[in-house]
Amino acid sequence: MAKKQFKAESRRLLDLMIHSIYTHKEIFLRELISNASDAIDKMYYKALTDGAISFNKEDFYIRIVLDKKNRTLTLKDTGIGMTREELDDNLGIIAKSGSLEFKKENEAQDGIDIIGQFGVGFYSAFMVADVVTVQSKAFGSNEAYQWKSMGADGYSIERCTKDTVGTDIILKIKENSEDEKYDEFLEEYRIKAIIKKYSDFIRYPITMDVQSSRLKEGSESEYEKYNEIKTINSMVPIWKKNKNELTSEDYDLFYEEKHYGFDKPIRHIHISVDGAFSYNAILYIPEKPPYDFYTREYEKGLELYASGVLIMNKCADLLPDYFSFVKGLVDSEDLSLNISRELLQHDRQLKLIAKNITGKIQKELQVLMKNEREKYEVFYQSFGKQLKYGVYNEYGSNADQLKDLLLFVSSKEKKLVSFSEYIARMPEDQKFIYYAAGDSADRIEKMPQTELVLEKGYEILYFTDDVDEFAIRMLTSYQDKGFKSVSSGDLGIDAEEKEADKVEEDTNKDLFEYMKTLLIGKVKDVRASKRLKHHPVCLTNDGELSIEMEKILNTMPGSDKITADKALEINTSHEVFQSLLTAYNEDKEKLNLYTELLYNLAFLIEGLPIDDPAAFSNDVCKIMK
Ligand code: ADP
Repeated sequence: MAKKQFKAESRRLLDLMIHSIYTHKEIFLRELISNASDAIDKMYYKALTDGAISFNKEDFYIRIVLDKKNRTLTLKDTGIGMTREELDDNLGIIAKSGSLEFKKENEAQDGIDIIGQFGVGFYSAFMVADVVTVQSKAFGSNEAYQWKSMGADGYSIERCTKDTVGTDIILKIKENSEDEKYDEFLEEYRIKAIIKKYSDFIRYPITMDVQSSRLKEGSESEYEKYNEIKTINSMVPIWKKNKNELTSEDYDLFYEEKHYGFDKPIRHIHISVDGAFSYNAILYIPEKPPYDFYTREYEKGLELYASGVLIMNKCADLLPDYFSFVKGLVDSEDLSLNISRELLQHDRQLKLIAKNITGKIQKELQVLMKNEREKYEVFYQSFGKQLKYGVYNEYGSNADQLKDLLLFVSSKEKKLVSFSEYIARMPEDQKFIYYAAGDSADRIEKMPQTELVLEKGYEILYFTDDVDEFAIRMLTSYQDKGFKSVSSGDLGIDAEEKEADKVEEDTNKDLFEYMKTLLIGKVKDVRASKRLKHHPVCLTNDGELSIEMEKILNTMPGSDKITADKALEINTSHEVFQSLLTAYNEDKEKLNLYTELLYNLAFLIEGLPIDDPAAFSNDVCKIMK
C-alpha cells in the first residue's frame, strides 16, 4: 500500500506533537472527545431534521475502551463518520493553516506551550500514541475506511469492515520512557479524571467499561469481578448550569475546549433569560485579538444551538460588527431546528436575542472599565479600534452606545482618558474638547498647532488611529461640548485674542495678501497666527476636511486625490517674520523664495509630502550661499 505524505505544514506540526515535552499531554483526550461530539452533533441534527431516519436518543454516545495488554485506548463515536475523501482531506492536512502561521510567530517566545493553549485537534493524539488508527463509516455510505499513521512518515488509507456509522480512533499508547510515563493513559481512574476535568459538559454520554465487583450469586462473602458500562460525564452543558455552581476555571476550561482563542479570556458573561423570549448564553471577551482579527478573513459570530442542538457554527447575526471580538454560544428553545440561514436572518426571536446580547456586552464592558480599569485597558489595546470603527460605521447610529467605552491618550498624563473624565477635569473657561491627530503621540507632541491650547492649560486628546477623527465627526459633541482639532482655523479660544489677531493682521495685510497670490491654488489663506508660540509657521484647516483626514483618504486604494482646504499661519512674533517684512519692502524675489520655503516647511512639519523636493533643496542651498 502506497504511503501518502502529510502536507509540509502538517508534518511540522506533527513533529511538534511527537517530540513535544508538553506537560499537559492529557489534553489529547479533550481534543478527540470534542471532535467526536462535533461529529455526533452533525448526525443528531440530521436525525432530527430528516424524517426518514429513525433513531433513539441512546444511539448517540462516545465510548472509551482501554486495553492494557495491547496498550490501546479506543475512542468510539456514533457521529456522522468520514468518507475516504474526508479521511484524506481532514486528517492528511491540518484544517486551520492559520493556526500554524500563528504558531510560527509565537513558538519562539512561548515554546511548545502554545500547543495546549490553542489546541490542534486530532494531531494531539500523537503526543501519547505512536500509532494512530482511524476507522470510519460515513452516514449514507456502505463502505468503511481505515486511516493509519505512525507519525511523520505519512499515512495510509484502505478499506476495512465496520458495521455502524461513526468513527473509532485507536491509539497505540507509547511505551514509557525514562522521563515520561505513558502507562497512566491506560489507567481507568486517570482517564475518568481527565474526562471529568475537561469534558464533563459534553452533552452526549461518554461511557467506559468499568470493572466493578459484586457478591457472587449464592455466596455471602465471595466477590466476583464484572464489567459494567458507566457514563462518566454529567452531560449538563455548562450554559445550562447555575452560575453559582461554576468557577472561573470552569469557564476558562470551556473556552479552551471550544478553541475560542489561545489566550485567557478577560471576562465571561453567563446569561439566562426567561420571558417573552428565552435563551442561555456564555460569552467571552478575549484578551488578545486572534491573529487574523484585523483582516478580511476574520469571521465574527457565535455558535447557535436550538434546544441544545447545534444549528450553526458562526451565527453572525447575533453580534454587531463593533463587538465582533466576542466569542461564545447561544442556546434558545424559541428557535426552530429546521430554520434555514436565510430565514434565520429575519427571525424575530433571533433579533431580540441579538439586541439583548449586545446590551449585555456593552454593560459588561462599562462595568469592567469602571471597576477594573487596568483590565479594561488591556482589552482596549486589543479591541479599542474596533469600538471606534463602531462609532463611525453605519452613519454613526451606534455612536451613542459606544461613546463611553472610548479612551484616548491625552497630553495631561500621557495616559488613557475617557470623554467623561476629560470633561470632569476641564477648566471652566474651556468650551471645546480639543484633539490633535497624528501618526504617534511623539509626533503630536511636536506639533506647532498645539502650542496655544496647551498654554491655556487645556488638555488635548491624541488621535493616533486612522479612524479616530472620522469617528469623532459622527459624535459631533459629548455632554454638549463640541470637538475641536488643534489644527482647525478657529480654535474657539476667547475673543480678546481674536481682537489682537485682527490688529496684527491689518498692519501686515498687504504682506499676507501678496504671499497669498504667490501661493494661489496651494493654500486658501495666509494669515498671522496666535496659536504659535515658538514655531515660525504651521498649516491649519479652513474647511470641513482635516489635513489628517486628507492623508488617510489618499492612502485608500482607488480614491481620487483629495485635498483639504489649508491656511498657512505665520508667527508674527518670530524673528523670521521680520525677514519677511524686510524682503517685502526691499526684495520681492527674496520674498518669493521665503514664502516657498515656509510653505514647504509647514508641509514637512505636518508630515505631508512636498510637491517638489528638488526645488526645495535648491531653495535651501540658495539661502545658505
Ligand atoms: P478541527 O476539529 O479543529 O477542525 P481536527 O484536526 O481536530 O481539526 O479535525 C479535522 C477534521 O476532521 C474535523 O474538522 C472533522 O471534519 C474531521 N474529524 C475529526 N474527528 C472526527 C470524528 N470523530 N468524526 C468525524 N469527523 C471527524
